[in-house]
Amino acid sequence: MDLGLAGKRALVCASSKGLGLGCAEALAEAGVDLIMNARGEQALEASAVAIRDAYGVKVVTVAADITSADGQAAVIAAAEGVDILVNNAGGPPPGLWSDWDRDDFIAALDANMLAPIALIKALVPAMMDRGWGRVVNITSQSVKAPIPVLGLSNSARAGLTGYVAGTSRQVAGSGVTINNLLPGIHATDRAVSLDSGVSAAQGISMEEAKAQRCATIPAGRYGTRQEFGATCAFLCSQHAGFIVGQNILLDGGAVNATL
Ligand code: NAP
Repeated sequence: MDLGLAGKRALVCASSKGLGLGCAEALAEAGVDLIMNARGEQALEASAVAIRDAYGVKVVTVAADITSADGQAAVIAAAEGVDILVNNAGGPPPGLWSDWDRDDFIAALDANMLAPIALIKALVPAMMDRGWGRVVNITSQSVKAPIPVLGLSNSARAGLTGYVAGTSRQVAGSGVTINNLLPGIHATDRAVSLDSGVSAAQGISMEEAKAQRCATIPAGRYGTRQEFGATCAFLCSQHAGFIVGQNILLDGGAVNATL
């Protein structure tokens, strides 16, 4: 399917690895020029080189912390006039509901709620002026079904979800769609880190921790960044213009719900 995106420009935040990288690769495959971001310069440059070589698109890199005001300013300056914005950042650490203090919540809100909102506010107005734009926020399955050890994620991502629900309906008339993609477990460094936590807490091997988690997923496996990226690229495509303010779960059936 031709996604109708050749020649567009996209900012993909937190995209040197994992789900953000999957989105960057799928957009590049559709002919989209990229601004890629992550903190670590080495992995970011390596991913940018691989994408340029594989797809022949232009890739600009901005090594910066997307949760900080300075990082956001640097990324926004490089991304002025983009057609597509993919919001992403690292996820908060696990813990117990009674562990976290104000600073922990502020850090989670900065990463998983306020950074995407700042980028939406900076970049969506120009999309509206041009009458076309796409915003995809990478959130989490925890928005639909809370994950007990990820209370910081449950909380911050719920805040972004509420903002998007209202905002997406205010900008849709200008040809701009905003939607959220909700990953269940995917085979990335984040999954390795979560499995390490289970392995340490329960005194089991990484393989056992992974098998235990797979047993809770009807698909019986972890998702891949390629599957995730392809869904993101479709949401950004010309064909998805009528999809507005939705929360799309990619979880292999893990959330046991009718709707
Ligand atoms: P990942 O494999 O650990 O990759 C994270 C990417 O984000 C890396 O490129 C990392 O590069 C970059 N990054 C992290 N913090 C950043 C920051 N402050 N500023 C700029 N870049 C940053 O993680 P992932 O699995 O792709 O997860 C992406 C998001 O989806 C996270 O919020 C995660 O919580 C959420 N999620 C993931 C899963 C899953 O199973 N994988 C499930 C549900 C939700 P640097 O470290 O160099 O900055």
